[in-house]
Amino acid sequence: PEEFFELSDRLKPRLYSIASSHDAHPGFVELTVGIVRFEYNNRPRGGLCTVFMADEIDTSGAPIGVFMSPTKSFILPEDKDTDIIMVGPGTGIAPFRAFMEQRVFDGGKGRNWLFFGDQSAKTEFYYKETIEDWMDSGDLYKFTTAWSRDQEEKIYVQHRLKEHGAEIWEWFENGAYFYICGDKTYMAKDVHRALIAIAEDHGGMSNEDATHFIEKTMMREQKRYLRDVY
Ligand SMILES: Cc1cc2nc3c(=O)[nH]c(=O)nc-3n(C[C@H](O)[C@H](O)[C@H](O)COP(=O)(O)OP(=O)(O)OC[C@H]3O[C@@H](n4cnc5c(N)ncnc54)[C@H](O)[C@@H]3O)c2cc1C
Repeated sequence: PEEFFELSDRLKPRLYSIASSHDAHPGFVELTVGIVRFEYNNRPRGGLCTVFMADEIDTSGAPIGVFMSPTKSFILPEDKDTDIIMVGPGTGIAPFRAFMEQRVFDGGKGRNWLFFGDQSAKTEFYYKETIEDWMDSGDLYKFTTAWSRDQEEKIYVQHRLKEHGAEIWEWFENGAYFYICGDKTYMAKDVHRALIAIAEDHGGMSNEDATHFIEKTMMREQKRYLRDVY
C-alpha cells in the first residue's frame, strides 16, 4: 500500500474566483461554488473538493490549505467611468459579483451590464436579491438573463448577446470593456462567435475584419476583451 501512495500524484489544487470585493468585505473572501454531484453507473458520485466543502468542512475540523493566485489581466478598467459588459452564466457570475461590489464602492460613472443565466430561474438564480438591489439603485444599468430550460427552445447568453447586438456595438464604440467568465468548452466559444457576428452585423465589417477586430484589436491590443474561463 505504501508503494501506491508513492506512485500516486499529489492532489491538484482547485481554483475558485473570488466573488467579493475586499473593499466591501474587508478581511473576507467569498466564493461562488457549484457543488459537483452526479450519478455514474447508478451510483452517486461527487467532486472531491466541492463535496468536501458542502458536506464535510464544518464537521471534520481539518485545517484547509488555501493560497491566492492573483490575476494580472482579468481586472476592472482603471478609468472608473468606462462602461463594462460582463457575461457570467452559472458560477461564472463569481468575479462579477466582486466587480459590481467594487464599482459600487468606487462610485465611478461607468455603466455596468450583466448577462447571466443557467438552466432555470427557479433553481439557479444566484444572488437574485443582490442583483435586484443593484438594478433598483441603478448601479447595474442593464441585466439580461438567459434561462436555458425555462421555455421550449434553449436560450443561452450568446443568443441574448446577438439580440442586443446593436446596443453592444454602441458600447464597444464607446470604449466598453467586455468580460467572460465560466464554461470554456461551449459558452466562451459561442460568446466569442457571437461577438464576431455583432461586429459584422452592426459594425458593417467583413468576417475577416470582424475577427481581427475582436481577436486582435479588442483582445490583444486594447486588452478590453478579457476572459477567465475553465
Ligand atoms: C481559473 C478557474 C476558476 C474557477 N472558478 C470557479 C468558481 O468560481 N466556482 C466554481 O464552482 N468552480 C470554479 N472553477 C472550477 C473548480 O476549480 C473545480 O474544478 C470544480 O469545483 C470541481 O472540483 P471538484 O474537486 O469538486 O471536482 P473533481 O473531483 O475535480 O471532479 C470534477 C470532474 O467530475 C467529473 N464530472 C462532473 N460532473 C459529471 C457528470 N455529470 N457526469 C460524469 N462526470 C462528471 C468530470 O470529469 C469533472 O472534470 C474554476 C476553475 C478554474 C480553472
